[in-house]
Amino acid sequence: MSDSGSTKNNTSTKSDLDNALSPKDNGLDNSILSQVGEKGNIQEESLEEILLQELLQKTTQLQQVDRTISRMQQELDITRQIIDCQTNAIIFTDKQQHIVYANTVFCSLTGHDLQSLDGKKLDQFVMLPDPGQNLETVLQKAMHWGSWHGKVFLKDDGNNQLSLTMSLNYRDEGLHEEVTEGFIYQFTPADKSTATHPDQNSLSLFSYDALTGLPDRLSFQQHYSLCIEQAGIEHSHVGLLYIDLDHFKRINRMLGPAFGDELLCRVTAILQQCGNASGADFVARLSGDEFALILPSPTSERMAKELADRILRKFQHSLTIKSRDIFVTPSIGISLYPEDGKSPPELLRNADTAMETAKTRGGNTSCRWKSDMDTQAIQNLHLENDLRKAVANGELFNHYQPQINLTTGIIVGMEALARWEHPVHGNISPVIFIPIAENTGLIEELGLDLVRVACEQGRKWLALGFKNFTMAVNLSGRLLRRHDLFEEIMDCLKSTGFPPTSLEVEFTESVLIENMANTIDLISKCRREGIKMAIDDFGTGYSSLSYLQRFAVDKIKIDRSFINNVTTNASDAAITMAIIAIAKKLDFQVLAEGVETEEQLFFLQENQCDECQGFLFNKPVAAEQMTNLLRRDSSVALKHKRIIDKFYSIKAQNYEV
Ligand code: C2E
Ligand code: CA
Ligand code: CA
Repeated sequence: MSDSGSTKNNTSTKSDLDNALSPKDNGLDNSILSQVGEKGNIQEESLEEILLQELLQKTTQLQQVDRTISRMQQELDITRQIIDCQTNAIIFTDKQQHIVYANTVFCSLTGHDLQSLDGKKLDQFVMLPDPGQNLETVLQKAMHWGSWHGKVFLKDDGNNQLSLTMSLNYRDEGLHEEVTEGFIYQFTPADKSTATHPDQNSLSLFSYDALTGLPDRLSFQQHYSLCIEQAGIEHSHVGLLYIDLDHFKRINRMLGPAFGDELLCRVTAILQQCGNASGADFVARLSGDEFALILPSPTSERMAKELADRILRKFQHSLTIKSRDIFVTPSIGISLYPEDGKSPPELLRNADTAMETAKTRGGNTSCRWKSDMDTQAIQNLHLENDLRKAVANGELFNHYQPQINLTTGIIVGMEALARWEHPVHGNISPVIFIPIAENTGLIEELGLDLVRVACEQGRKWLALGFKNFTMAVNLSGRLLRRHDLFEEIMDCLKSTGFPPTSLEVEFTESVLIENMANTIDLISKCRREGIKMAIDDFGTGYSSLSYLQRFAVDKIKIDRSFINNVTTNASDAAITMAIIAIAKKLDFQVLAEGVETEEQLFFLQENQCDECQGFLFNKPVAAEQMTNLLRRDSSVALKHKRIIDKFYSIKAQNYEV
């Protein structure tokens, strides 16, 4: 947009408006009165004529004003649209740095909307790298020379800093001096070349992505090739992080492309900030929701992993976009030159494969490329086909793991866990086949089949006279997309004759939060029928207390990663204690998963955990073995009780001492 052009345009329209509303004929009454006064004895019909003429004239003038205003409005809208669709962040301030207008990119980068930015001073958002310099001096320079550009840091609403190049132009002509005399600022990504050569020409070396303002795929290829070339000469390493957002398509589909666009801009800001903090100041958008970060030489595997961890940590918090809190997680693939490839395309492909592997592990994680990943990908493809057949032939079954009450030692429930006996590969872990089933959509069929099998088995145990147990089943996020999920669950219960009050449904926190609307609906319907709800793997996801209150759940299951180190790691112990305390406060049952040692059990008893599940008592077992466990429940309970009582006797001895 040409600065002087828009000023001229506005000046002419303003004078049109001024003429139309000139004070000399602003008041209808005054001019008519003056005419009446002059003529004195004017006849009634000529007065009417004058009034009519006057009215006609004023109407024409008003129409002219109307047209002028709507033309100005149109021009203003067009100007705004032009500014808003610029790839760079642009703002206008008055001479005193008060923000007059900011385009959408600036709003996205800072996390503020236009309304909240209006009138704010720019130095709340922009910092200069040199603490000895301040924005006021920079503005003085721009007023003197007409422009200024250099590296700055832009702060977002979370006080994160983005490194950018700011180009500043001073404008001193305008309609209302107090408003339009001021500055126009453009912010462009501060990549390596612009950082070392902060002149406008070096910016044109790269082409930028229109939405995020990041260098695009082509620019990435150019820059990455240079980095590799340089590292080849220096015999050093270059790291590449290939980042893809988990479930982005779903977010885009459910919340709309405008939401998705803003999310991508926010992700851009986070990646830039993480990159800057790790010396990786080149971030590119490769396509859609795929980004690349280059860790320039000299670097190492450790540094690449640290950067990936930094990014993953950043995404543990929710982002507020269009007044909506959203959690989004990335999958990150890492490749390192020269170990993982000699040429840029090979390194990029390998980082992509590593990213895909991270996705098959459930996302929200990072993976370094390994030479066997390609064969693994092919194996996954074979597994996918085999899994399809296995689901169609009903070859999958459940194992059951007892859940024990920590006061009585009695089995109070069991969790159904999926098993697949592959004809060639043998026992395949659900950790491998459940993500494949989720990625392919097979889970919709498989998940419900397993719920039905669990209900059927539950009814058999009831028929054998075992009462007072809860059958826990796992429901994956993908299943929630089925709008008939509640009806399907009810059908499993009705057709097998298993009572709803004996069924417990487990969801992870992320499943709850990512499918908020569907889940709330499902939870309320299920609870009405008496079906219990449990949050699985608690502590590994968002652990948001406000969400906990919103979901009317019955039980929290503390993830086994905390229990694993509960007696050796102070922070795991603190987290476990805090989760138990929260559960008690909110009146939820609390179960600890993965209890393997007596020490862990004692810790949980001491902290009043209600139930536990783990290898210390029993591994997941086949249905027949579970029947035996239930049959021998009294003796099993005795064994369990002995373990539990040991704690109390140790405790009593401690008191005696
Ligand atoms: P999960 O729901 O957290 O299930 C508990 C897992 O912890 C089970 O692994 C169980 O064998 C294991 N475990 C129990 N006690 C101990 C212990 O003391 N030490 C250790 N190291 N592990 C213990 P499994 O059976 O391999 O299942 C893994 C995951 O697969 C489950 O984690 C669940 O997320 C998923 N999964 C299993 N079955 C189903 C299913 O039918 N549907 C869905 N959607 N997911 C399932
Ligand atoms: Ca579970
Ligand atoms: Ca779990």
